[in-house]
Amino acid sequence: PLALVWFRNDFRLADNPALLAAVEAGYDPLPVYIHAPHEEGRWRRGAASNAWLHRSLQALGEDLAQRGSRLILRQGDSDKVLQALIAQSGAQAVYWNRKYEPATQPRDAAIKQSLKEQGLHVQSCNGALLSEPWDLRTKSGGPYKVFTPFYRAAMAQLKLPATGDAPASLPSVPDSLESQTLAQLGLAPALGWDAGFWEARQPGEAGAMEALEVFLDGALHGYVEQRDRPDRVGTSRLSPHLHFGEIAPWRVVQALEARRSAKLAAQIDAYIRQLVWRDFAYHLLHHFPHTVEHNLNPRFEHFNWAKASPSKLHAWQRGLTGVPIVDAGMRELWTTGVMHNRVRMIVASYLTKHLRVHWLQGAQWFWDTLVDADLANNTLGWQWVAGTGADASPYFRVFNPVTQAQKFDPEGRYIAQWVTELAKLPLPARFAPWEKPDLLQRLAPDYPRQPIVDLAQGREDALAAYAASKG
Ligand code: FAD
Repeated sequence: PLALVWFRNDFRLADNPALLAAVEAGYDPLPVYIHAPHEEGRWRRGAASNAWLHRSLQALGEDLAQRGSRLILRQGDSDKVLQALIAQSGAQAVYWNRKYEPATQPRDAAIKQSLKEQGLHVQSCNGALLSEPWDLRTKSGGPYKVFTPFYRAAMAQLKLPATGDAPASLPSVPDSLESQTLAQLGLAPALGWDAGFWEARQPGEAGAMEALEVFLDGALHGYVEQRDRPDRVGTSRLSPHLHFGEIAPWRVVQALEARRSAKLAAQIDAYIRQLVWRDFAYHLLHHFPHTVEHNLNPRFEHFNWAKASPSKLHAWQRGLTGVPIVDAGMRELWTTGVMHNRVRMIVASYLTKHLRVHWLQGAQWFWDTLVDADLANNTLGWQWVAGTGADASPYFRVFNPVTQAQKFDPEGRYIAQWVTELAKLPLPARFAPWEKPDLLQRLAPDYPRQPIVDLAQGREDALAAYAASKG
């Protein structure tokens, strides 16, 4: 018998619970990907994500072909495409790994219901998380809003599935089942603006496994000390691979555990803690789906956000604010499709506090430009920095971008790498060039003379708006 295995955001063959369950139940899997961005609502994938998706699907298609199978690509309404495929193939079952976004969760529930009513076997699995959003409850039975108790509960009941290699071979897919070409989905950027994305990253399962190995042999050994340093490769760079399901988080944990030693224990614990932040983000997304657009903390519903002046917003987006660390981060993002976590916090604080622009504007820009754009993590990250979310850093904690740069990019190397016109400026002027107008004029004539908002004034205005929002 045949079963559809509906790939959605789980582009791997190893540790793929839906694929495994179909094979173990004795079905010949028919792998299918349905391109249906209209079903994702406001948060349909942005341009950078699509560029990654294109390559991830290509890799999955090749991995399947190598094993004798084939990825069927279709476009349209998911339910209709599935129905057509069932009619064309005679499949008796449908398997998939769950997604948790508020736009697609009800769709999936409706599809499951109607397929079951037709008498098909339908099974959805956890392919993405260490623990699912409903696995953990507070003592009073509600969802968590604070990370530390969530983390403790998550660690106390962590049960990881065994890892398993990708099947060595898979049954062939009947020729009669047509597929569109990947090019027809129109995901790859036509103008090649994504060239810089692929210098350090390779989409697909093999690229994910490789990134994990590189991390285990390298940055893991100094993760605690280096993870906040944007001028170093101090982290795993796994986020797009995890987002697209090219690697299972439990494989990452098990690979870390296999190396546990007294020397590495603190590094490993710190890393797993970050993976649990990811689960926490999904927990919040599931229990508070409105937070993808609304503040979790209702105090902010009537907050006096500044009207984003198009020129200031544009300056932030393109790294022309005149604040070097902010500009470096925004340019790294534009060129590579990623930004270091510490710098994400700095640029988000600058936008929501110094410029007092609603975090949603920043979240949308990230959504379009990040290759790891992830609705759960992005929403949590923005609401956390803006001070509007769960377990947030309070709004009145305004990052000073100059001291942040001095602390986390002490030699100014990250700034020089991305804001190349400042490379000739000596330290400490590189952190706050407006303080040395003569040097700036002479050595970096193309860089803004002044920040678009005076840092002290921006901070004061933000605090005043916060004080006024009380009550
Ligand atoms: P590592 O330090 O190696 O961490 C390992 C993994 O843990 C990451 O790959 C990620 O899956 C998870 N993780 C790490 N930090 C966090 C965190 N703070 N919250 C949730 N999960 C985390 N991450 C995304 O994956 N997608 C996003 O769209 C996203 N948007 C963000 C927006 C803002 C404003 C902020 C402050 C953070 C955002 N993050 C997002 C979290 C974080 O910046 C990235 O996960 C991290 O930079 C990825 O690099 P890495 O894989 O080398 O991280």
